[in-house]
Amino acid sequence: MTVAPHFAFKNQVLHAEDVPLAALAQEFGTPLYVYSRKALQDAWQAYSTAAEGRNVLVCFGMKANSNLAVLNEFRQLGSGFDIVSGGELARVLAVGGDPGKVVFSGVGKQEWEMQAALQAGVKCFNVESEAELERLAQVAAQMGKVAPVSLRVNPDVDAHTHPYISTGLKENKFGIAIETAPEVYKRAAQLSSLNVVGVDCHIGSQITEVDPYLDALEKLLDLISALAGDGIHIKHLDLGGGIGIRYTDETPLTPKMLLDNVFERLQARGLEHLQIVLEPGRSLVGNSGVLLTSVQYLKHTEAKNFAIVDAAMNDLLRPTLYDAWHSVEQVAQPAGQRPADAKTYDVVGPICESGDWLARDRQLDLRQGDLLAIMSAGAYAFTMASQYNTRPRPAEIMVDGGSYQVVRPRETLESLFADEKVLP
Ligand SMILES: *Cc1c(COP(=O)(O)O)cnc(C)c1O
Repeated sequence: MTVAPHFAFKNQVLHAEDVPLAALAQEFGTPLYVYSRKALQDAWQAYSTAAEGRNVLVCFGMKANSNLAVLNEFRQLGSGFDIVSGGELARVLAVGGDPGKVVFSGVGKQEWEMQAALQAGVKCFNVESEAELERLAQVAAQMGKVAPVSLRVNPDVDAHTHPYISTGLKENKFGIAIETAPEVYKRAAQLSSLNVVGVDCHIGSQITEVDPYLDALEKLLDLISALAGDGIHIKHLDLGGGIGIRYTDETPLTPKMLLDNVFERLQARGLEHLQIVLEPGRSLVGNSGVLLTSVQYLKHTEAKNFAIVDAAMNDLLRPTLYDAWHSVEQVAQPAGQRPADAKTYDVVGPICESGDWLARDRQLDLRQGDLLAIMSAGAYAFTMASQYNTRPRPAEIMVDGGSYQVVRPRETLESLFADEKVLP
């Protein structure tokens, strides 16, 4: 059993759906990202089933994985998109996504990004500061437009997750403190180029329990009631993303657990008219992808055994950045023709940084040339990849049943410096 249902062993070889991963590595080389279309569809289904018969808009938090093939799949399934930049908006438009289902998040929106989003006609700007509110009002007025806005409120709740991916505490840079939100809403309501439509929060990522969401929900519902008293009528409540996935043995809350609880409380308060917006990223794509890498060298030192592989922190930054755990599978399980030789390995890349590691202290039975799958590499993986050390970013493959397609080719070496110029 692996952590991801659509990446399973058949005849002791790891497959993506019906395609053996060793065959993909053979054809396209490593490092290689491989996604499962069925895994995307199943992850979406969990949200759409939970939302059935309810006024819910799911906006894929696309910074988790913004390959056009992934975006297009979610667009076809009916998803909206949570964007954090003008670049992400351009990707949504490139696949024919409906701007009316786009919410624009982020603490540092620039003027050109606001203009592009107003031009496209996004559903809502999630505004994170008073200064941003004033700028948005100005930009919209200059264009003769009215900008739909939510304030991203910081409810000061602890999401019980890694400090780097916890965003709903007072000391985070995100959002507007819930105590000051009513004043800022009053200001927004005075500006004729703004239309207040919602309340928004996003308390963190890789959240496994429902309680932090409900703590935030209660605070936001109090705010919404108070705003109604001031004549400000909220149409939608955006609870952000954050539902976690299984990297090792976690059992995260499900979309159904979240929405059942949310709608129960809306009813209890007589607020069923509110539309609920969700911005899931990781939970829609995280276990839909793996990173394939092959063992270049085994190195045994006094202190450690190292498996030096051809993927590195530039391909998958999460271990370096968050100390993240990714499970590591051997694509072809040792079949017994070779003597067992399991050791505790650190799986590391070739980059000149001590932080360049993918997994630590894993019990593995390795030989030079063995193929490994770094699991749960569908979210915050390729999108965080860089070309550090002048390493081309890996190809991305989408598997669909027994077939597969290159959805982004491996970068060529020439392309890495094609736009650079030497001085005359
Ligand atoms: C990153 C992000 C998301 C997606 O978060 P996940 O934990 O991947 O679900 C949603 N909303 C905002 C504002 C974000 O910054």
